[in-house]
Amino acid sequence: MVDCIAIDGVSSSGKSTVSKIIAKKLNYMYLDTGAMYRVVTAYCLKNKIDFYDIKKLQQAIANINIEFKKNSLVYCNGKNFTNIIREKEVCDKVSIVSSIQIVREFLVKKQKEIAYKFDVVMDGRDIGTNVAPFSKNKFFLVCDLSERVKRRYKENLQKNIKCCLKDIEQNLKERDFIDQTRKINPLKKALDAIEIDTTFLTIEEVVNLILDEINKKRAK
Ligand code: C5P
Repeated sequence: MVDCIAIDGVSSSGKSTVSKIIAKKLNYMYLDTGAMYRVVTAYCLKNKIDFYDIKKLQQAIANINIEFKKNSLVYCNGKNFTNIIREKEVCDKVSIVSSIQIVREFLVKKQKEIAYKFDVVMDGRDIGTNVAPFSKNKFFLVCDLSERVKRRYKENLQKNIKCCLKDIEQNLKERDFIDQTRKINPLKKALDAIEIDTTFLTIEEVVNLILDEINKKRAK
C-alpha cells in the first residue's frame, strides 16, 4: 500500500518548504500541485489563450505536458517554466484559472494517479478533501496574513523577483478568497486533518510537529 501525506493550507503558509523537507526525510516523492495550476495559467497567458473560452482552453490543456525535474525545476512542453510560474501576472490569475472545472479535472486526474501509485508528500488546497481523501496523514497549515506577506517578500527577494509588500498582501488575500469560495474543490480543512498555525513556528518546528504525528499514527 502506498502512502500519501496531504499538506493543505492558505497561500504562503509554508506548505511547500515543509513538504519538501518531509519528503526528503521519508524518502517520498514530493508533488507541488500549486505549480501545476501555475503552469496551466502561465501557458494560457504566454499563448494568449482566453481561459473563459472553454473550447480554446480545452484545446490548450490537451497540449500541455508538465514535468518536474531535479531541484524543483518545472517544465512545460520541454521548456523551463520554473521562474515564469512565479511571475506577478501568473500570481494574479492562477486562482481564477484554478477555479475552472476542466482545469481541475485535468490536473486532479494526474494528481490522483500519482497519489495511488507512489509514496508521496503532496501540498495544495484540496489534497486531503479531494485528491487523496484516503490519506491517513492530513495537515492544514494556517498563518497570520502579515507574517505570510513578510515570508513571501523575503522569498521573492531571494529569487530576484521584483515585488512590493502591498501587492503581495493584496494577492494573498485575493487568492485565499477565491480558493476558499470557489464551487469546485475549495480550500477547506478535511474533517480529520490536523491544523497547525505556523505564525510563530520555525520551519524545523513545523516539520517536527508533522513528523511526530506521522510517527504516532505509524506506531498504532
Ligand atoms: O501553492 P501555490 O500558491 O503555488 O498555488 C497557486 C494556486 O493554485 C492557489 O492559489 C490555488 O488557486 C491553486 N491551487 C489549487 N489547488 C491545489 C493547489 C493549488 O486550486 N491543489
